[in-house]
Amino acid sequence: MFTPDNLRETFKRFNQKIQDKKEYLSELDTPIGDGDHGNNMGRGMDAVSAADLSGDLPAIFKTVAMALIGKVGGASGPLYGTAMMEMMKASKESSDPATLLTAAAEGIKKRGGAQQGEKTMLDLWIPAIDVVKNGALTEAKLQELAEKTKDIKATKGRASYVGDRSIGHIDPGAMSSAYLFESMIEAGV
Ligand code: ADP
Ligand code: MG
Ligand code: MG
Repeated sequence: MFTPDNLRETFKRFNQKIQDKKEYLSELDTPIGDGDHGNNMGRGMDAVSAADLSGDLPAIFKTVAMALIGKVGGASGPLYGTAMMEMMKASKESSDPATLLTAAAEGIKKRGGAQQGEKTMLDLWIPAIDVVKNGALTEAKLQELAEKTKDIKATKGRASYVGDRSIGHIDPGAMSSAYLFESMIEAGV
């Protein structure tokens, strides 16, 4: 279950991972994008870590959403922002991880018009949520899901511009999303 304390801990850990892996995430974005994903997320998570994350679940999600929408930019900013806004809404009624994460994934789909199988962050979110529903999501499983995006040809986002040459590379947004899920596990959500 999400609690205000484990949610704050989740974002603290997510910030740490994003800052640690900023160069790596931008490297992943270089062959199939414009090489800025790590910098985009780093800027957004700087704003999250400077924000006041006090309050209940909806208050925390709203503050995070605003910081990400305001600072990340690119394709990923509005998508992560939408995910957090949908979790904000869902957290008024529930604190169940699968329920909130499913609402977030639906928001990402609607906002970006992508489905599973197009080499985007959804290829991490959707299968990871399936595992959450069945019990035990692990760091190894998340790494495996991120690696699996290598096999997919991108048909949405900037990576779709390189067509077949997108095959063989991990999707950067899927990798950063794996760090978010990993942070939740570590925070004991
Ligand atoms: P930009 O591509 O604008 O430079 P980023 O590099 O920050 O933005 O983010 C790229 C990531 O955004 C991709 O790796 C992918 O996971 C995600 N993404 C791009 N377009 C979509 C979409 N339509 N739906 C879901 N995720 C998307
Ligand atoms: Mg980019
Ligand atoms: Mg960009």
